[in-house]
Amino acid sequence: MITFEGKGVYGALALGKVSIFKRGEEPVRRIRVSDPEAEKKRFVAAKEKAKAQLDAVYEKALKEVGETNAQIFEIHKMMLDDDDFNDAVFGTIESQSVNAEYAVAVTADNFSAMFAAMDDGYMQARAADVKDISDRLIACLKDKKDEKTSDEPVIICADDLAPSETVSLDKDKVLAFVTAHGSVNSHTAILARTMNIPAVIGAGDEFLSAIKDGDVAFVDGYSGKIIVDPDEKTVEDAKKRIAEDKEKKRLLQELKGKENVTKDGKKINVFANIGSIDNIGAVLLNDAGGIGLFRSEFLYLEKNDYPTEEEQFAAYKRVLESMAGKKVIIRTLDIGADKQVAYFNLPHEENPALGMRAIRICLTRPELFRTQLRALYRASEYGTLGIMFPMITSVEEVTEILEACRGAKESLKADGLTYSENVETGIMIETPAAALISDKLAPLVDFFSVGTNDLTQYTLACDRQNPALDRFCDTHHEAVLKLIQMSAENAHKYGKWIGICGELAADTTLTETFLRMGIDELSVSPSYVLKVREAVRNADLSKEKA
Ligand code: PEP
Ligand code: MG
Repeated sequence: MITFEGKGVYGALALGKVSIFKRGEEPVRRIRVSDPEAEKKRFVAAKEKAKAQLDAVYEKALKEVGETNAQIFEIHKMMLDDDDFNDAVFGTIESQSVNAEYAVAVTADNFSAMFAAMDDGYMQARAADVKDISDRLIACLKDKKDEKTSDEPVIICADDLAPSETVSLDKDKVLAFVTAHGSVNSHTAILARTMNIPAVIGAGDEFLSAIKDGDVAFVDGYSGKIIVDPDEKTVEDAKKRIAEDKEKKRLLQELKGKENVTKDGKKINVFANIGSIDNIGAVLLNDAGGIGLFRSEFLYLEKNDYPTEEEQFAAYKRVLESMAGKKVIIRTLDIGADKQVAYFNLPHEENPALGMRAIRICLTRPELFRTQLRALYRASEYGTLGIMFPMITSVEEVTEILEACRGAKESLKADGLTYSENVETGIMIETPAAALISDKLAPLVDFFSVGTNDLTQYTLACDRQNPALDRFCDTHHEAVLKLIQMSAENAHKYGKWIGICGELAADTTLTETFLRMGIDELSVSPSYVLKVREAVRNADLSKEKA
């Protein structure tokens, strides 16, 4: 029994036989040809065949993973017709009098290297797409059949899987997949989550060299662990965990596509919280109605320097496009306190949670704030955006923020850049001050979102980082609930909506309480969306509270 570790990209479990993914990849040989025109014709014919295959892959993906995720195969088709790509293949065939397979392979290598060298993470990930289409073209040139998996359900193990290979896997015959390489940002990982295939990536080359066809393995897509050749006790435990996991998911899956409506007809929104664009797959998989909190500071935490306007724009645009018109609320930078970033050079503070954090940094460093606001407004044209500001304590702050938003929009106009006029602006209610003056704040904004993690810490004077305070930190404390209630009343008095995006939103023992307060939206981790939906559907507000 040996255990390997990678990154779980879809939380589910599988026990079964390993099958090493075979691509039939003999290296492409360079062959001199006497008739380059005939090679060009072979290339054009292969392209048509590849396009027909991609149409079939697209249709399959459309049914299994939805339009947004299937679009990648339309993009692959467009890449096949890309003039630069085609000119380069033709040019190589003509100038070197070589076979089409070789010309495609060389051109794809060059294009992949170009994408891989780009700064933008999204463009870097396109290198895998180029490789994917060139493999397909070469297989068509060699007249190979499209990829096929074995008949028995197996754990597919590969060095890496291209998006089209992942979606071509027959879901009924794949127990899980494990790759030695790959990035959590790739379409492949997103597809795995959307297709509900237990998946672990980045298990390393040692994993691949240690396994062979027919080995038994247990794949834990939650923890990223793979146990090869498990002993009897591990097999027993695995079987038990698989049965429990299946039952839990089965019950919740029945709620997909259903409304978040109480027995007496009150509807609310159940949205998801994310920290990275990698989480979008889970948002879609769990049928969230939108994104209620995108913690944008993770873009800053992942880097060694300030993310540029272009980098931020690309990330926000990607989230908005992936959600295909569903509402996405992006919170501006919430750095400071427990989220420290070295390059911000924040001075040491005795009480960082009560110090220079979140909106206070943005209002102190207007250039930093403007860069983020410009990126957000530029991205606003690609979906339905709401911008939300953290750690608010006063009317003056909100006035200054709205002025900064106006300034950012004017600067975009001056640069000839466009933005949507329908961006909602809201604030987080996560200090007692904000809740207590919520009657003055509500007229200024479009919505409130309650950050119960900080609201609890600041109301009860309990550092949220200190586990020793657990017994003093009653998350259901009357004072916290009163502040939420007060904020809800004031929001509604001015016709504004109010959500909760702190961890308490997922506490289903409070769902009914929140519904009775009139909370309009609960935003929770993707995996809690269906659980909260279930609690909403079980509530009956026409009856006295139990
Ligand atoms: C909160 O404080 O409840 C919140 C959602 O923000 P964070 O946890 O990121 O501080
Ligand atoms: Mg907070």
